Amino acid sequence: MTETILKISGLKVAYGGIKAVKGLDLEVNKGELVTLIGANGAGKTTTLKAITGTLPPCKVEGEISYLGQPLRGTQSFRMVQKKLAMVPEGRGVFTRMTIHENLLMGAYTRNDPAGIAADIDKWYAVFPRLKERSGQLAGTLSGGEQQMLAMARALMCHPTLLLLDEPSMGLSPIMVEKIFEVIRDVSAQGITVLLVEQNAKLALQAAHRGYVMESGALTMTGNAADMLNDSRVQAAYLGE
Ligand code: ATP
Repeated sequence: MTETILKISGLKVAYGGIKAVKGLDLEVNKGELVTLIGANGAGKTTTLKAITGTLPPCKVEGEISYLGQPLRGTQSFRMVQKKLAMVPEGRGVFTRMTIHENLLMGAYTRNDPAGIAADIDKWYAVFPRLKERSGQLAGTLSGGEQQMLAMARALMCHPTLLLLDEPSMGLSPIMVEKIFEVIRDVSAQGITVLLVEQNAKLALQAAHRGYVMESGALTMTGNAADMLNDSRVQAAYLGE
């Protein structure tokens, strides 16, 4: 039977008079890589922030459940204990800590030093650049290096659900390719992923299912391969 990891029903978010999300229903099932695509200002980041409870003062309505339990009201630091990890837009690395310290922070809920060390070695093998610079302060890394670190740090807690906000933003084409290779690998390992992206083509190529969001509401959902071939998606998001 399909296990639903994340279920959002009737989500509405308003910042003062601005209705950023206007009644959103979305589901992510175990093992799926689901992408939420849409133009600037569609409400994608707001949706992710509603899931993690990190919105500025604003009005939120609707239900969000994770592993069958309501998530709203859960303090952000408890999310990692629940194995829900997020890589925010702008990466959110601890700028005054080294790469190594950032990775250790990602594992702060774990109590298996040997496993933590092995995981850090694994991520250093995936991203040799991080290994070369392990003692460097994260704030001095390039955007691409920070993105690698943010992903590796989020994965140090062995998440059940990984939320990614625009991981390709501001990266060179080679770096975008590398990050998407890692996203596909993570998904192949069975980690459930919700990926917010403006690069609709790459996102739909990697995903199992997709949702299109416009002005705070969903306008389309379906199998990612079908969406790639949909003429409306091609015209609006794939530049074809
Ligand atoms: P982008 O791809 O550009 O990041 P997005 O789809 O993630 O866009 P959001 O960042 O969720 O969109 O923004 C949705 C709407 O809510 C926008 O109109 C934005 O201006 C507004 N908004 C977002 N954050 C705030 C805030 N803190 N205060 C007021 N309005 C906000």
